[in-house]
Amino acid sequence: MTPDRVTRSDQPNGDGPGTVRFAMQCPLCQAADTRVIDSRPVDSNSAIRRRRLCVACDHRFTTYERSNPVTMVRKRSGRLEAFQPDKLRTGLSSALAGRPVVEGSIDLLVERIESEVVTLGPVVSSDVIGRLVLDQLRQLDEVAYLRFASVYKSFNAGSDFERELAELENQTESLDPTP
Ligand SMILES: [Zn+2]
Repeated sequence: MTPDRVTRSDQPNGDGPGTVRFAMQCPLCQAADTRVIDSRPVDSNSAIRRRRLCVACDHRFTTYERSNPVTMVRKRSGRLEAFQPDKLRTGLSSALAGRPVVEGSIDLLVERIESEVVTLGPVVSSDVIGRLVLDQLRQLDEVAYLRFASVYKSFNAGSDFERELAELENQTESLDPTP
């Protein structure tokens, strides 16, 4: 029994307890089990290039990991601040507190919203981000959506949002499946 005979799958994503695992799937056969066979910094250390091997079909492919450029958020006051996914996570967590959502949903939401915000950058208004959050929450959980909307609304007095919210509340009542 030598330790190097122990097979363990490569965990390049830094998986640990309580984290959601996102496998990089094979672009050829879509198998989820791929391994990193080489990893090196490129572009003056601004990116990491990884060679990956699909365990199912032996296809080799390359992925690049880069940090996102800093996106700035324009607040209603006109002030600019760096977009902070952690702040977004906090907002989503409190909106979803106690709601029956699948573990990892918040991470996934943060990732989705962040990737959208980044494509809209380099400067995005806080209103636009609020809308993105609302769109995502609406699909996931109506209660969390309403909670977030009420916070969002308080920062957006005078918008057409109030009317929209009232409409949604009516719809929610008629769609409520609970007896
Ligand atoms: Zn494959």
